[in-house]
Amino acid sequence: MSVSFDIIVIGAGIAGTSVAAELCHGNSVAMLEMESVAGYHTTGRSAATFVPSYGPPVIRALTRASEAFFRAPPEGFCAHPLISPRGEMMVAGAGDEHHIDQAISDGLQEITLDRARELIPPLRTDKLVAAAYEAGAEDIDVDALHQGFLRSLRKAGGTVVLNAEVQALSRRGGQWQIETPAGAFHAATVVNAAGAWADRVAAMAGIAALGITPKRRSAALVPVPADWDISAWPLAFGAGETFYFRPNSGKLMVSPADETPVEAHDAWADDMLIAEAIEHLQDTIDIEVTRVEHTWGGLRSFAPDGDPVVGFDTDADGFFWLAGQGGYGIQTAPAMARTAAALIAGADVPQDIARAGVSAAALAPARLR
Ligand SMILES: Cc1cc2nc3c(=O)[nH]c(=O)nc-3n(C[C@H](O)[C@H](O)[C@H](O)COP(=O)(O)OP(=O)(O)OC[C@H]3O[C@@H](n4cnc5c(N)ncnc54)[C@H](O)[C@@H]3O)c2cc1C
Repeated sequence: MSVSFDIIVIGAGIAGTSVAAELCHGNSVAMLEMESVAGYHTTGRSAATFVPSYGPPVIRALTRASEAFFRAPPEGFCAHPLISPRGEMMVAGAGDEHHIDQAISDGLQEITLDRARELIPPLRTDKLVAAAYEAGAEDIDVDALHQGFLRSLRKAGGTVVLNAEVQALSRRGGQWQIETPAGAFHAATVVNAAGAWADRVAAMAGIAALGITPKRRSAALVPVPADWDISAWPLAFGAGETFYFRPNSGKLMVSPADETPVEAHDAWADDMLIAEAIEHLQDTIDIEVTRVEHTWGGLRSFAPDGDPVVGFDTDADGFFWLAGQGGYGIQTAPAMARTAAALIAGADVPQDIARAGVSAAALAPARLR
């Protein structure tokens, strides 16, 4: 026996959950997740920021087009605001000034080192030559966003099946037949929102890989002196994204901003790189890190050209890609999900998102074939 749906979404990270919530109006939708909880992989491991100047042009366009949702989500979507002000700063030592010039052309504003020190008082300005700042960067409440989409999906009659790793996928009689330990399913359309596993899911369906590469990013949480109030510090990058740090529940999250290509797996941090990032941190602010409280790793998955992949595969009927969200899958989720849902319905990119600069061709998997 196989359970039938109009659309099956594979993966319950932010990509799968947001698109499933969009699709469930007018379609029967099931979302299959291999883990016992939704959001266990990359979605639960992000830096939780909304940075309008971050990423390639199509990402910035999707970020701009998502802003209205973050500021005013639908009635009942969440109990608290989804975003709150944070700010973003880049600092540079001698020889790295060109990164500040690049950041300024990306939309940051140059600030004096005195102003930088007002924002982060223990900044070692004697070791710096330049700084830039963007006020528009915000914190995202990722859990509220993800849970909001999950609630919307369930409220509209969508089905979420956990412990349901898709292990086989085949097309018969105009339907995708899907085998999982939680049972068999079939649907005319499948959405591949499997994050780091996207190429593997395609391979199961006999579809050529697009070259979606998981890249590990490591992070650590370190305590700060008890008398420091770091709550209003901005997210701060070393010039050229060599490392970054940000306040996180009264502690500092620090990341070496690594991008190491790896196989899809349950990621963990690279301890050597964490040690280097802590050295950078101690060079940048006057802090002695005496212990590391917690480390983690997550996989940011990129297509070869760095842009996300949103569209039907041209070589297989009813197989839709929603992959390659890179380091921006949270801040772009609202607009990316609406775009995907429109394309699945055979419509064009929604007008407001197209006006922001997003086209179906720029996202299409065919560009990578
Ligand atoms: C350290 C770090 C910092 C980041 N910071 C930010 C940030 O500040 N802002 C931002 O916007 N983005 C950030 N990102 C990126 C963001 O987290 C990702 O782009 C986003 O979470 C990707 O979501 P996803 O749903 O595609 O992937 P995932 O969350 O990984 O979801 C994919 C799901 O598919 C499931 N799956 C895979 N294979 C199968 C199968 N065969 N059957 C069933 N289920 C399957 C997996 O179990 C997983 O749950 C960061 C990432 C990292 C690692």
